[in-house]
Amino acid sequence: MTGLEYLTVAEALEIILDGVAVLAAETVPLPEALGRILAQPIVAQDSLPPFANSSMDGYALQAADTVGATTDQPISLRVLGDIAAGAEVTITVSPGTAVRIMTGAPIPPGADAVIPVEDTNEPWRDEKRPLPTSILIKRQVQAGDYVRAIGEDIEAGQHILAASHQLRPQEIGVLASLGISQVPVIRRPRVAILATGDELIGVEEALSPGKIRNSNGYAQAAQVAALGAIPISLGVARDDEADVRAKLQKALEAGVDLFISSAGVSVGVYDVVKAVLEHEGNVGFWRVRMRPGKPLAYGQYKGIPYLGLPGNPVSSMVSFERFARPAILKMGGHTRLERPCITVVVQEDIQSDGRESYIRAVVTREEGMGYTAVTTGEQGSHMMTSLIKANALLIIPEGVKQVIAGTSLTAMMIDWPETVF
Ligand code: AMP
Ligand code: MG
Repeated sequence: MTGLEYLTVAEALEIILDGVAVLAAETVPLPEALGRILAQPIVAQDSLPPFANSSMDGYALQAADTVGATTDQPISLRVLGDIAAGAEVTITVSPGTAVRIMTGAPIPPGADAVIPVEDTNEPWRDEKRPLPTSILIKRQVQAGDYVRAIGEDIEAGQHILAASHQLRPQEIGVLASLGISQVPVIRRPRVAILATGDELIGVEEALSPGKIRNSNGYAQAAQVAALGAIPISLGVARDDEADVRAKLQKALEAGVDLFISSAGVSVGVYDVVKAVLEHEGNVGFWRVRMRPGKPLAYGQYKGIPYLGLPGNPVSSMVSFERFARPAILKMGGHTRLERPCITVVVQEDIQSDGRESYIRAVVTREEGMGYTAVTTGEQGSHMMTSLIKANALLIIPEGVKQVIAGTSLTAMMIDWPETVF
């Protein structure tokens, strides 16, 4: 992979994804597993519920004893005792008897149903209320009514979650119910971020002639963190080969799974990243037929995948979206690597230059119109505010130079604001 190559977005993405592998597993405590990807399937060791229990506050009984019971002709049962949630059961229900039971308490032997308190003459839930000696049942119940059977949700031995499943709060809850306090997950990718350029100063520094603040370094670190990966900020390298080398070396020593740099990969005299990679890396320099973002460097530096993004802030962020994001997600064990894409109707004419274009846009849904999109205006690759306004990137396919209002296009949703949808 050397020299200038012209690639489509799809070709570039395929090569990049082929070049990165899913990372190894590690074990994390359950509270830290949110958002992580399971490295192994989860098999239930216990059944859930672990024992048959009541779904209502009421009386456990034999359903056969309630046949024909109505409000006008209630059936009387003798109350043997009380079972609270968490209690061990010592009482057995026999014909003609019932046991007061709380939600979640074990169904006593002999009982096959529960009658809710509301359907008795004792419609009180107050725990201090003395236990009645008998109870009037005002309606008939069937065997199994208000009983949560053992294993109804999960049976011991059942495969509950597949490897590659992403853990959301509900999965964390299920793992907790199953007693899994340590969770096998894919390691979070460590991604080194390097900004390059003599014009760059730190965020805390005052502007001086010819200088701009390093925004890419921060934006990219945030993009990495938003994926659940670990950004390792290498700061700014001067347009100086020795400085670039030193910064990359520092990252290698700290341990890194992917390098991402911005700028210095075009054909300018000061494109030192390119110079360093040409000497020491196995890196290709591409011209990707996309807009914004054309120059892209990809390969390996000392055995570690390396992605060199363009310098212009919007090009850098859009290239990250298109190439770095899927690569980092793949390394982190994700199986869905793409943003959700929907079809939208554009509300204005849009010009393109025949490259696959990613137009910053606002997608909304309007009554009777489905999803529609307007651009955020000026699309210059230095116009950061156009990304602040956008919730989507409209994709104009390669070869198309003019899109007429009313045309349907694919929108790659970078955000899904609840206020809009
Ligand atoms: P280059 O690829 O070095 O020619 O840079 C292209 C454009 O991106 C120039 O206008 C740079 O000043 C700008 N640029 C490069 N790196 C950064 C950065 N880290 N933050 C903000 N702008 C940058
Ligand atoms: Mg530069």
